[in-house]
Amino acid sequence: MQTHFPPALLENPDMAQSEKILRACVHCGFCTATCPTFLLTGDELDSPRGRIYLIKEMLEHDRPADARTTRHLDRCLSCLGCMTTCPSSVHYMHLVDHARAHVETTYVRPLPERGLRAALAFLLTRPRWFRLGLRLSALARPLQGLMPKRVAAMLALAPRQIPKASDVDRPQVFSAQGERKMRVALLNGCAQKALDPAINEATVRLLTRFGVEVVVAQGAGCCGALAHHLGKTESAYGFAARNIDAWTREIETSGLDRVVINTSGCGTTVKDYGFMFRNDPVRAEAAAHIASIARDVSEVLAELAITWPHAAPKLRVAYHSACSLQHGQGITGEPLALLEAAGFETLTAPEGHICCGSAGTYNLLQPEMAEALRARKVADIETLAPDAVVAGNLGCITQIAAGTEIPVLHLVELLDWASGGPKPAKLSAFRLRAAAAPH
Ligand code: SF4
Ligand code: SF4
Repeated sequence: MQTHFPPALLENPDMAQSEKILRACVHCGFCTATCPTFLLTGDELDSPRGRIYLIKEMLEHDRPADARTTRHLDRCLSCLGCMTTCPSSVHYMHLVDHARAHVETTYVRPLPERGLRAALAFLLTRPRWFRLGLRLSALARPLQGLMPKRVAAMLALAPRQIPKASDVDRPQVFSAQGERKMRVALLNGCAQKALDPAINEATVRLLTRFGVEVVVAQGAGCCGALAHHLGKTESAYGFAARNIDAWTREIETSGLDRVVINTSGCGTTVKDYGFMFRNDPVRAEAAAHIASIARDVSEVLAELAITWPHAAPKLRVAYHSACSLQHGQGITGEPLALLEAAGFETLTAPEGHICCGSAGTYNLLQPEMAEALRARKVADIETLAPDAVVAGNLGCITQIAAGTEIPVLHLVELLDWASGGPKPAKLSAFRLRAAAAPH
């Protein structure tokens, strides 16, 4: 794509980076075929190619974002399906991240919209406040039908029972069982601690069982992804900097082989810390190192080459590949291989490359599009009639579970159960077809 950025504008490294990305796009339109929002609306401006054009027009002239550009960028899921499809290696993620930051600083959204976005950025990243918000949601649920669409969507996604905070999420060290093979820091995150603490508990049991010492580092927490995708750059970089500093302290005191992430949306961002801080005179080196040792939990489990100790429970499991895992991190084989090695029967639904509509705060901010994508995803999964659905990202788990009676679990919950951990609570009502459960 030809661009005509004024030279003075290109002195800004973010602009120079975006110009390079824009120039790589050859307008071929292959990406439109796999873009979920284009599939829904058929509008070129809801396709990656259309959005790239809007971003070019906005950035090249250093214009404030207008309502049309903002609407079509807001409708983008950041699922990154377009990056997997693009034959020209257009780095849409870095481009749209920059565009969102530009929108945030140049476009004045209507007051209710600003309030909602600010509230989400605050609440979701602070587990204590989020837990309080979830309790209030439970009280408001009977009034759901009277609420505006977005508020109703939030109430529908809130869990019916609010889990207690888990001891696992306090800063501490969990010793490896047997010979120590690895020492890792676990990103225990933000919203996940409040919504589904069983995931971090299962992760710690699973990793320590197979010889990994796990650290929950003092000072680490939210990865910054939620704020980043809302265009709130300062907040996102603040969260990321705290993690980089916390893990760097661990590296300097006791060493770390890996930073383990069990929410793939966060993993994509942590793996991008090197890029995010590339021009930071203080943290560039540390950020690049953290990014280089960041791994999804499925990658670490694959690295451990585990011999699974029990016959797995007889379960037919539909694997949902989170966009942030398959498109953001290029991880497709490991989770399925782990489930099969542990003895589960795995199934994959058609259209596995299409987003479920979760996408961070997308299902709260764009409920109509998100519900349409969830309906499509759930219909695809239900054709398989699985006993359970498994995914590696809390957002997908929450989104899909809101549309089906089939239990939806995290990969680590099933693998923990298969190797000696407790039966996941989400399967408590589920009767195994053959009584082969280890517990
Ligand atoms: S990130 Fe997803 S929704 Fe956004 S343009 Fe790319 S394919 Fe479409
Ligand atoms: S597939 Fe890549 S090169 Fe082609 S239009 Fe989409 S982003 Fe541009």
